[in-house]
Amino acid sequence: MDDDPSVSRAVARDLRRRYGQEFRVVRADSGQDALEALREIKLRGDTVAAMLADYRMPQMDGIAFLEQAMDLFPHARRALLTAYADTDAAIQAINVVDVDHYLLKPWDPPEEKLYPVVDALVETWRAVGDRPVEETKVIGHRWSAPTYEVRDFLARNSVPYRWYSVDEPEGCRLLEAAGLGPGDIPVVITPDGKALRAPTGAEIAAVVGLSTEPAAEFYDLIVIGGGPAGLGAAVYGASEGLRTVLVERQATGGQAGQSSRIENYLGFPDGVSGSQLTERARRQARKFGAEVLTARDVVGLEARGSARVITFSDGSEIAAHAVVLASGVAYRSLEASGCGDLTGRGVYYGSASTEAQACSGEDVYIVGGANSAGQAAVFFSRHARSVTLVVRGASLEQSMSHYLIEQLRAIENVHVRVGTSVVEAHGDDHLESITLCERESGTTETVPCGHLFVFIGAAPYTDWLGESILRDQHGFVRTGPDLLAEGRRPQGWPLDRDPLYLESSVPGVFVAGDVRSQSVKRVASAVGEGAMAVTLVHRYLEER
Ligand SMILES: Cc1cc2nc3c(=O)[nH]c(=O)nc-3n(C[C@H](O)[C@H](O)[C@H](O)COP(=O)(O)OP(=O)(O)OC[C@H]3O[C@@H](n4cnc5c(N)ncnc54)[C@H](O)[C@@H]3O)c2cc1C
Repeated sequence: MDDDPSVSRAVARDLRRRYGQEFRVVRADSGQDALEALREIKLRGDTVAAMLADYRMPQMDGIAFLEQAMDLFPHARRALLTAYADTDAAIQAINVVDVDHYLLKPWDPPEEKLYPVVDALVETWRAVGDRPVEETKVIGHRWSAPTYEVRDFLARNSVPYRWYSVDEPEGCRLLEAAGLGPGDIPVVITPDGKALRAPTGAEIAAVVGLSTEPAAEFYDLIVIGGGPAGLGAAVYGASEGLRTVLVERQATGGQAGQSSRIENYLGFPDGVSGSQLTERARRQARKFGAEVLTARDVVGLEARGSARVITFSDGSEIAAHAVVLASGVAYRSLEASGCGDLTGRGVYYGSASTEAQACSGEDVYIVGGANSAGQAAVFFSRHARSVTLVVRGASLEQSMSHYLIEQLRAIENVHVRVGTSVVEAHGDDHLESITLCERESGTTETVPCGHLFVFIGAAPYTDWLGESILRDQHGFVRTGPDLLAEGRRPQGWPLDRDPLYLESSVPGVFVAGDVRSQSVKRVASAVGEGAMAVTLVHRYLEER
């Protein structure tokens, strides 16, 4: 798209010459015309690989256009064209529409300046882009917890799918065609027509093209956990030549992948969605050659001679010279009566972005007073009729960043109830109401509520590590100086030196991110520790 027809014609001509066999090149002279063309493409059920937009345009500039175009085709790759080096435009483009490239006009010769950029766009789109949505189908019930788990798994792994309710004729038709009935939901139908009845994450991962099987038995480095710390370790490990495998239990991104907008990550002054940031990191790790296994739960870690061996939940094993443990933390459950039974059926942990549409026009409640709850309130306020933040403490100031408190104050449909707890959840097959209790007066009130999102902190899930890896009283893993009691090394420590800064009580097993005792619970520090752990891995490998 370029408002100068001679330019848009020339770019289109160059693109057709190289890509015309495989792709249709569509040209437009204004943002409105380009959006119109995109809408037509959407209605026809086609997909878009890449969009190139001129920055300086009279009515709608390139960034405004790409912002709207992303709503139609979020997976299409994006490049901005400018007439001269315009740093402000580039920064704005990166922050607002997450452009992949920034291209200076003129692009002659195209072989050197235009095609390499478009090749990279096409390659990225092929890796993460939208395949036709009818490929994977999910049939289930809106208020079924296992259905929610399947949809959440697909969404968090960026796998496009089409959703059919078992209450609708098309859902019934599909079930019938698969020879199944309503009692079999959730059902996943794969692109080649195979029906999976109530599948596990690993079963889904295997059929939608996510890697679940390690390619080797032995690596230089195994990274456990695919949050920011694990992704940081995988990027630095693989880029520095270590044969690296990252193992993730559910979906890469970890807690950060659940964050609707991270505002305090360095270099993103307008914030960035957690899933966008971590998806880029996953691509980066893959680009450097790291293997990424999804839906594989690590249940054991032990030292066998110089090898560090991990065990998967199916009993199989892989080994490496060194391990970075980056398994983060998991949400604490809300101890209100009735909540357990309604989890996934109106009560959700984390931001549950798959539920955003279902909240449209509803009154939503969010439990928690920290930044994660605040971000969720901002996110759901765009969908729900009202959002009420239920905070146990006396004020938000104690637990939430100032910028978020200000942001919430400015949103009309967000309400905050401090000094209040959720004490009961009610509903038969799904959540219908909750009982709130004001702590000081003890007054209770039952309010209608179909969606309750819980953000009340998290705890590490480290029991599976066994006794040899020392943990603090809350289960977080001790490392480096924290392992020295009055200058004495931990019992059984076999080396003639102190544990390195991020090293656990087992030499060669390093720890990064939220799971580490005394760590700062932030995306930036997790990424930083992942990178630093790799430097210490190199030092450990050199001394062997
Ligand atoms: C909603 C929300 C919003 C947030 N917003 C911000 C923010 O704005 N700014 C900020 O700085 N921080 C924010 N945080 C905190 C930040 O996301 C975390 O500090 C960060 O994600 C920690 O990274 P991590 O890699 O250590 O752990 P995690 O992100 O917890 O990742 C750990 C990963 O390990 C996997 N795993 C666990 N056990 C195993 C196992 N046995 N086998 C295989 N895999 C396993 C998990 O599935 C998970 O994917 C937010 C957190 C939440 C929940």
